[in-house]
Amino acid sequence: MPAFRLTGHPDVASVTPERLVVLDWKTGRDTSAAPLPQLLGYAYCLGRMANISPQVSLKIAWLREGNMQEWDFAWLEVVEYIRGLHSDVRNWDGKSYEAGAHCRYCPRSHQCPAQKALAQSAMTTLADTSVLGVARADIAPALPDLYARVQMLERHIKAFRKWLRDDVEANGPIVCGDKTLAMGERRISSIDPQRAWAVLQEHLSEEELARCLKVAKGEMLAVIASKATTGDKGTAKARLMKQLEDADAISVSVRTALEWIETPVVGEATQ
Ligand code: SF4
Repeated sequence: MPAFRLTGHPDVASVTPERLVVLDWKTGRDTSAAPLPQLLGYAYCLGRMANISPQVSLKIAWLREGNMQEWDFAWLEVVEYIRGLHSDVRNWDGKSYEAGAHCRYCPRSHQCPAQKALAQSAMTTLADTSVLGVARADIAPALPDLYARVQMLERHIKAFRKWLRDDVEANGPIVCGDKTLAMGERRISSIDPQRAWAVLQEHLSEEELARCLKVAKGEMLAVIASKATTGDKGTAKARLMKQLEDADAISVSVRTALEWIETPVVGEATQ
């Protein structure tokens, strides 16, 4: 058996000799990544640690969508899956990678040849200006794949910027011939409301002041929670939010973002 280690932490697990239940919360938007192998791995480790051969129930709670995915397996099916995983690893040629949605959190993605090939193909497609302005019916068939590659490219760019910034912060400027990359500074002024309060009141009416100020909701709830007793924090926050709601002080804005949804069945959209 080749030496390799996979690590993970199940969110919720219940282990009895008869039944093993593993539940994982997913808070992300991306429901395309297949989570089942992760849960099968948890179940196998828990079953082996307890030295039992139970029925296995696996559950994923997609918190954002409010959906629950569930699977049931006999213990031998879980063992078979892990044997297959071992076999795949043992027979891997050491150079073939299959990139996809599962790569999103892979710590090796920056050195993975499949990721590099995908990034190159995404850049080639985007550099081809005919992509811009192409008829939507023409681009639609290729869009799921192209958009996934563009998102992957964005992640690479973000990771590269972070790595570069961390390096310059830790080790100082990088000299590149006649140019040097260094950390620059931009001065951003902010006003301390507590110290400014008396001055602002001299110049602004209450209504004008209210227009200038914003309440940081997260900060406000954190303060309320910090003042409540243990066990009462959630209630204290809910109470305040209800009071604010009753005072008509809460408004909801909608932000739009691209996301994948199930294509409506013809006729469904008009019902
Ligand atoms: S980035 Fe490469 S190594 Fe990582 S999961 Fe994807 S294909 Fe595998």
